[in-house]
Amino acid sequence: MEEKCRAVVLRAVDYKDNDKILTLFSLENGVVSAAIRGVKRAGAKLKFAAQPFCFCEYVLRVKGDKRSVISADIIESFYPIRENITKFYTGAVALEFVGSFMQEGMDGRELFISLMGFLKTLCYTEVSPKIALSKFLLEGLALSGYELSVNACAKCRKTLKNRAFFDFNIGSAVCENCRESLDVEVNPNTLAMLSDLSHYGYDELEAVDYPLMIQNKAIKLLCHYSNVKAGVVLRAANDLMLYCKND
Ligand SMILES: [Zn+2]
Repeated sequence: MEEKCRAVVLRAVDYKDNDKILTLFSLENGVVSAAIRGVKRAGAKLKFAAQPFCFCEYVLRVKGDKRSVISADIIESFYPIRENITKFYTGAVALEFVGSFMQEGMDGRELFISLMGFLKTLCYTEVSPKIALSKFLLEGLALSGYELSVNACAKCRKTLKNRAFFDFNIGSAVCENCRESLDVEVNPNTLAMLSDLSHYGYDELEAVDYPLMIQNKAIKLLCHYSNVKAGVVLRAANDLMLYCKND
């Protein structure tokens, strides 16, 4: 049987001498893995279709529960993401997020649309990569059932002013009066940035402007929350903070 899908390459792992196993995230079928043969040979025709970030229309052969790539037509290479280290690592965090939160057989349409919005923003606009990534993680967490509450104190509903705290177990901001002993103090601007991102679409992100220090804190908060709530460690985020702290 043959199957067509429009998919982004999340991961490509070496397999045998010349093959790779791709983890594809498709609009039609969520996450699937597929072998792609001969792509490590010099001059291989389908080399482009085994690159992370690449968005192609794939024709897959399905045999039992195994898939292999027959052909691929490129829709968007998102190549500029691979030419800038900050864009590359922020993009890598998003791909790892999808690979960790989506399992084969899960419906990922909304997450797919969010990923596309993120990759286009990252690739073709001047929006800070870390603001775009924070938007994607915030939306991705909400779509995975881990919505954060950041607009006001979750307990008394008052706006957060001088001091703000975050309860990682319930995913909510709390004020100084309502906080409990395990709540972590966070910079109120970090929550203000996340609150803005929850109201703006990808095409409005140019209006969101926060210092890099706040952008880094927002990403750390979202990654820590993924870990506490879902047990997901986003390793690419460590590389992002290590190599791109200042851009
Ligand atoms: Zn309160």
